Amino acid sequence: MNLFRNFKSVTKTCYGRGSLDKLGEILEPQRSANKVFMVFVVDDYFADKEDFKKRIPARSEDEVHFISSLKEPSTKQIDALRDDILARRGLPAGIIGIGGGTVMDIAKATALMFTNEGSSVQYQGLNLIKKPGIYHCGVPTISGTGAEVSMTAVLTGPVKKLGLKCDWTVLDQIVLDPDLIATVPQDQWFYTGMDTYIHSVEAITGTKKNTFAEAYSEKALELCREVFLKRDRTDPKSDEFLMVASYMGGLSLTYSEVGVCHALSYGLGKVLEIHHCLANCIAFDKLEDVYGDNVQEFKQMVKHNNIHIPQDLAKGWSEETIDAMAEVAYNLPHMWDHAFGPEWEQVLDRERIKGWYRRM
Ligand code: NAD
Ligand code: ZN
Repeated sequence: MNLFRNFKSVTKTCYGRGSLDKLGEILEPQRSANKVFMVFVVDDYFADKEDFKKRIPARSEDEVHFISSLKEPSTKQIDALRDDILARRGLPAGIIGIGGGTVMDIAKATALMFTNEGSSVQYQGLNLIKKPGIYHCGVPTISGTGAEVSMTAVLTGPVKKLGLKCDWTVLDQIVLDPDLIATVPQDQWFYTGMDTYIHSVEAITGTKKNTFAEAYSEKALELCREVFLKRDRTDPKSDEFLMVASYMGGLSLTYSEVGVCHALSYGLGKVLEIHHCLANCIAFDKLEDVYGDNVQEFKQMVKHNNIHIPQDLAKGWSEETIDAMAEVAYNLPHMWDHAFGPEWEQVLDRERIKGWYRRM
């Protein structure tokens, strides 16, 4: 393995059923006399859940913003949120994201943009952020993306769909409360859960695979099999397993890379605005030539949980749409390098990528 990384982990992790109720205590040391307020960004699914809202430990001086995750986070949205809060209130003591990958990425990106001038567009990429952000904490309410442990906050900008990626992006604190994911609708639960399955498969299927990635990946895959094949969702262990699988799947990537499925998924996301996790499922379903037995296993999981994966989409796509998606995917060389090795251009061209899209 010729791959050296020096990665930063989440500073503090609180895990366990009911741990949301520890959040107030956890935030306390971050509040001080001259840092007067905290910002909570919360998935708007919870906007009318009165019992849940009472558990958000916001004080009278804090701000609670309910945010829709219908669209994936954009650079424009992050800039506007930051500008609005700075103009009205000044710099907050911290930002807490309570929600899925969308809301956690909003919290991560906004934390950085509070202290880095200009638009977030100029920081899309690796190590472009100049200063550490404010304190940021994540409380996942749906599991699979691994956004709770990753060093990136994925944003859709005018040109690129690319993360603000650096050590400072990593959350200072996460609170993993498996109770919180119980209400996720069945299809969404599956699509997002499959993100960690696919991360774990891709991390160990490619030239950058290594023992570190394999250790996390194997555990995540084992937990996914428990959740999606062996048990019922009503099994009390199921939510605990999935929440930990998401974390492990995320870590399997820290010393490896995603591959073909994620490259194709980025094309679907950028051009057709299909959500990351659904896009992954649409792509993975058709990648038996690349991921063999794992695609068979994925199909068993789909069946076992009675999930619908959209089919025959390509019939409705123009050549221009397929070209545009192939262009997005082709321009992710680090993923192809992992999938096929440094000589990837000898086995992959835009036509091969279009072939995968035409199967969907
Ligand atoms: P999401 O945050 O987009 O939410 C999906 C849906 O689930 C929404 O409708 C939301 O309202 C609902 N929901 C969330 N929690 C719920 C609950 N407890 N009960 C009922 N409904 C609930 O979902 P996601 O799949 O976790 O996140 C996708 C996003 O994550 C994408 O924007 C993607 O780009 C990003 N992502 C980031 C990383 C990273 O490393 N930063 C990795 C993968 C994906
Ligand atoms: Zn993913």
